[in-house]
Amino acid sequence: MPELPEVETVKRTLNALVQGKKIQKVTVRLPRIIRRPDDIRMFETMLEGHTIERVERRGKFLRFLLDDLVLVSHLRMEGRYGLYAAGEPLDKHTHVIFYFQDGTELRYTDVRQFGTMDLFLPGEDLSLPPLNKLGLEPLDPEFTPEAFRDLLSGKNTKIKPLLLNQAYVVGIGNIYVDESLHRAGIHPETAAKSLTAEQLERLHQAIVATLTEAVNAGGSSVKSYVNGQGVSGSYQHKLLIYGRKDQTCYSCGSVIEKSVVGGRGTHFCPSCQPPI
Ligand SMILES: [Zn+2]
Repeated sequence: MPELPEVETVKRTLNALVQGKKIQKVTVRLPRIIRRPDDIRMFETMLEGHTIERVERRGKFLRFLLDDLVLVSHLRMEGRYGLYAAGEPLDKHTHVIFYFQDGTELRYTDVRQFGTMDLFLPGEDLSLPPLNKLGLEPLDPEFTPEAFRDLLSGKNTKIKPLLLNQAYVVGIGNIYVDESLHRAGIHPETAAKSLTAEQLERLHQAIVATLTEAVNAGGSSVKSYVNGQGVSGSYQHKLLIYGRKDQTCYSCGSVIEKSVVGGRGTHFCPSCQPPI
């Protein structure tokens, strides 16, 4: 599933591709992708004649800001956007097509069909599901060491599932949580409330550094992720721990282990990240 760096990369690519384009027509080929409004024809006609002013990101969601509408899109496992010339052959997994006035088409394809789209009036989207209960943006100035400490203080939950919970901090998924915990030298099963002030500070720094470096590398292309122009990210070559089971730790040479924490496959170094 794309995490913050991948969605941020898709957002930047989309801004380069579709900013300022006016929608002439929309065709939904798979109704289950559209959650709001529940009438698919209404979704299609509401978007007609509107211009995409820019694309933003909130957590792992894309927000298409149009004149007088906001389209919120979640890629889930395999959702992708691509810009095509009119008449190019359709992929069988193309589920939504935005036809622009200039003859180009933005196509949404999704092999797994888990992606979602919700259409809102301006100002509605941030106060209604799915965006209304999201936590802090880790690359925004609001994500200070103090805010992070306050968020975690007293929580009996293990640190890994807590960081994956989008109600606390958004955008972190299974790849970047393992990377961040490894950089901070924290075992993924440590209870949040037992982390020292120094560990919290290190973890905060590790999250910001890991996500920033991954954004700069265009995200990680693990499995099938590509950005809106079909280009792969390169951060998968820089991962320190994720996907490296039975290989040696770059820091200490120990053999990297993989276990299950909170139902998720979890990579860690038993020496650099000792259990408390
Ligand atoms: Zn190590």
